[in-house]
Amino acid sequence: MLPLNLNAQKPKTIPDTFFTLVDSTDTKENNSPTRFSVDIKKENWDNTVYNPFKEMVVTFPLKLEFKDSTYHSPIGKDKVITSRFGWRRGRPHKGIDIDLITGDSIYAMFDGIVRMSRYTSGHGRTVVVRHYNGLETVYAHLSKYGVKENDTVFKGSYLGKGGVSGNARGSHLHLVVNYKGIPINPEYLFKFNKDNLIRGDELWVTKKWTRAIAHNSKRQSKITPLFTEGAALASLIKERSIYVVKQGDTLSRISRRNNVSIASICEVNAIRRNAVIRVGQKLLIEK
Ligand SMILES: [Zn+2]
Repeated sequence: MLPLNLNAQKPKTIPDTFFTLVDSTDTKENNSPTRFSVDIKKENWDNTVYNPFKEMVVTFPLKLEFKDSTYHSPIGKDKVITSRFGWRRGRPHKGIDIDLITGDSIYAMFDGIVRMSRYTSGHGRTVVVRHYNGLETVYAHLSKYGVKENDTVFKGSYLGKGGVSGNARGSHLHLVVNYKGIPINPEYLFKFNKDNLIRGDELWVTKKWTRAIAHNSKRQSKITPLFTEGAALASLIKERSIYVVKQGDTLSRISRRNNVSIASICEVNAIRRNAVIRVGQKLLIEK
């Protein structure tokens, strides 16, 4: 086995298409050859569209790896979540809203490369950073850009200033965490407390954590992180059950009894909210 020179210096200039997957919490000088290299600009790198992954098929459960144990807070003060990932006013809310005052600085949660830094309808001034584990973080409703497309950023790099641009009700940061264009409930991966903790170095994401309809924007979903593929697959089996409609049942009663939203029952059974349900009818319950 070759001796590893752990004190090797990182070259002064690094080609921007070729990066090592590094934990920015440990030393940047450490360029250990045991770390693998990934080129995150190789596929679906497009500065002009929010989701360049439209044709991509993502299989679940999905494994995400983190080299860090913490993220950098996207804002410089205590994080107050004013709206969560989930169903909101009859529509999916695909990120979380963190309260701020226009002009507050916004920071990158992890090392990465800026894929997009431009205005989009809805999101307003938006910065999208692609990270080395395949995730993208989206910082929306900004008042000012602090980075350009294709800039390399580090965990904690300044990205711009928060605001109210686009379709925002009051100043806040709309933070989205996407994997190949699919939004993941950020609270499943990260604790939005003072410690900025990532819930695990290997997290398995089931479809449930990508579906706004399975969550409520007004309250935090019960979170049980899945650390192995086995646990993820076992959770899928538990997620589906059959409910047989009883005398006196209504959709709202079935929803309360099974602890799922009416919207979810309607979606998985392809029925309308005002559908007539009959005694003995079998409904699929998906949690
Ligand atoms: Zn939002």
